[in-house]
Amino acid sequence: MQIARILAYRVELPLHEVTYKWSGGKSISVFDSTIVAVETDTGLVGYGEVCPLGPFYLPAYAEGVRAGLRELGPHLLGEDPRELGKLNRRMDAALKGHPYVKSGIDIACWDILGQACGLPVCVLLGGRYGEDYPLYRAISQEPAEVMAQRVAELRAEGYTRFQLKVGGNPDEDIARIHAVAQVLQTGDRLIADANTGWTQHEAMRVVRGVRDVDVYIEQPCLTYEECLSVRRHCDHPFVLDENIDGLDVLLRAKADLAMDVVNLKISKLGGLTKIKQARDLCISMGIAMTLEDSWGGDIATAAIAHLAHSTPPEFLFTSTDFNSYVTVSTAAGAPQREHGRLAASTAPGLGIRPHMHILGKPVVEISR
Ligand code: MG
Repeated sequence: MQIARILAYRVELPLHEVTYKWSGGKSISVFDSTIVAVETDTGLVGYGEVCPLGPFYLPAYAEGVRAGLRELGPHLLGEDPRELGKLNRRMDAALKGHPYVKSGIDIACWDILGQACGLPVCVLLGGRYGEDYPLYRAISQEPAEVMAQRVAELRAEGYTRFQLKVGGNPDEDIARIHAVAQVLQTGDRLIADANTGWTQHEAMRVVRGVRDVDVYIEQPCLTYEECLSVRRHCDHPFVLDENIDGLDVLLRAKADLAMDVVNLKISKLGGLTKIKQARDLCISMGIAMTLEDSWGGDIATAAIAHLAHSTPPEFLFTSTDFNSYVTVSTAAGAPQREHGRLAASTAPGLGIRPHMHILGKPVVEISR
């Protein structure tokens, strides 16, 4: 089997909640997502999706995905999409870095592998654990009382894990964490995610200000060293996210005891092949994970679901269903949340069928 053609489509994904706000005054209303189709000479087609959280979150941007595909795509024609280790080495040899460019192709090739052998991707990633798994909900940065009200509403929908977008004014963030903690019950999980937004002294004030609250602190500061210093001065469970973009820093963080949980995103690591390697290493090292991506719609959510559902439950801290945040459905067969939980498809591959009328005309076409 050979890759015969690679196509990419650009889809806009508006938010139900209109605007999503996080640290440093950053916000987004409409996501610019790239859906990648990898066509084979056998007629099998696989799909992947890459959707950066705007150009100012990770070192990735939407037009960069498409530009990167134009650069990388010609090197992959003729390759066997089922040989994912070889394919990833080919991608790394042809284009240095740019993991988010490679992610959509890698996901699409896992979709092809699953279809070719008649198995869902979660089985190929290690096996399905249980019926379903718990989701978190990200709470856009708003005044404390608005965030507490939102968490109460989402609790009523079945969510039990809440990731507050903090990383703003430290006094307001302390108030946000206290206000939301008031509406939670035993067994709920609260995460205060600063998304690198606090300076070190601000982070130190916040962790002292919420010392009596059962809350996880996620990525308080910009650099690894700043986060490590805060970690060493606080007794809250600690999550690293933005700094963990490969195995070297993951191993360093384990050696430094820099985190209790790590947030791994598919496109940040470079696709399902690379994130599986990091996920399996975390399992061996005893580190629980939030498994997700930067954002996306139905296809990204399907890929996340196969990854999360094939992770032992004691190591799956939480995951997310981005397709429930956006107003546009790009594919049938994508997993749909029930009572704050999700399950990967049991159909072969990712188990999705794209809505071609939503995808429209391809904006990238790589063929001989
Ligand atoms: Mg995070």
